[in-house]
Amino acid sequence: MRRLIASDYLFDGCRFMTNHALLLEDTGEIIDIVPQGAFEPRDAYFYPGLITPGFINAHCHLELSHLKGLFNTGTGLIPFLNDVVSQRDFAQEKIDEAIQTADAEMWTNGIVAVGDISNKTDTIGIKRRSNIYYYTFVECFDFLQNGSDAFLKPYLEVYDSFTGLPRAMVPHAPYSVSPSLFESINSVNSSAHIISIHNQEVNDEDQLFISKQGGFENFYRKFGFSLDHFIPNGKTSVHYTMEHLNPDFQLLLVHNTCMSDTDIRSVMKWNLNTFFVTCPNANLFIENKLPDYRHFTSCNANLCIGTDSLSSNWNLSILEEIKTILKYQSYLELGEVLQWATSNGAKALKVDQQFGSLKSGMKPGLNWIQDIEVAGKEVRLKENARVQKII
Ligand SMILES: [Zn+2]
Repeated sequence: MRRLIASDYLFDGCRFMTNHALLLEDTGEIIDIVPQGAFEPRDAYFYPGLITPGFINAHCHLELSHLKGLFNTGTGLIPFLNDVVSQRDFAQEKIDEAIQTADAEMWTNGIVAVGDISNKTDTIGIKRRSNIYYYTFVECFDFLQNGSDAFLKPYLEVYDSFTGLPRAMVPHAPYSVSPSLFESINSVNSSAHIISIHNQEVNDEDQLFISKQGGFENFYRKFGFSLDHFIPNGKTSVHYTMEHLNPDFQLLLVHNTCMSDTDIRSVMKWNLNTFFVTCPNANLFIENKLPDYRHFTSCNANLCIGTDSLSSNWNLSILEEIKTILKYQSYLELGEVLQWATSNGAKALKVDQQFGSLKSGMKPGLNWIQDIEVAGKEVRLKENARVQKII
């Protein structure tokens, strides 16, 4: 049966519309967007507040969900990575249960599509049966041990296991992927694939590539990997990615906490199809620091939003990420950041035909956001704003 729903504001993926209604099939498909005056208010079910398309989580590590609440906040990336690597002994049952709970949490929080990092195969089962659309980034690293094929084989096996699901082979970060591993990754993927890489999350990363300083050399030595052969190129770390990654892939650069506008411009010149994914709550959790979003908006960069994993976040909620962004960088407007969370994220994962916008013929999922306020002409979230999934 068709139904009509209305709200104070509809956000269509780019802008707010006042007092409009949506005509829906019960499958969630949008039949029509009806302007004020063209429908009888008494015929519509009214949701006070705001309705948005389902949210897109452009960066998550579902397989780390069992690490929720285990690590200290604010210690910095290298101690955090140490913590992650040293947590090994968990019963498979616990891991599976945490993955299932996290998937359900995202769905309840209005997330309809996720770009998810996998080093292992633990998430395959849930990805096959979830209501959420997952694009899996099978992530590789070799601690910069150039020419060592020993690292590649297990990742190729993981990649093969994800056959039938949307997936790509991707590099973990500039500081952990050698030129030869980049070459292998380039050759496994075609230009239809989407690549994701962690980028400039911490200053040590730039220090390594500029002058072979910072904490990574020591970090690797502790695991038995020497960087004696490594010669810095004298530039920030993203230049190393640009030197070795094929620019024909659509690219998601994740975190970018320490990225300058000069670097952003260089990347956009090198690859126009680059999306910059911000995970603000994870940045606060790990580094107690946020990117300066003015660097990105001044370059007209494509921004989107991720939650990162439950090992480095308190929850998996895009609305909570939006609130954090607007709390600490209040020069941004809600509509701009909602666009990052909806239509930009959908383009980043190449699912914008179905998700991220309110258009007739689409089935984007619908979120109801309560506790908003209007200041002048600006729609804002109140501190207690919450999201409820309509469909
Ligand atoms: Zn990550």
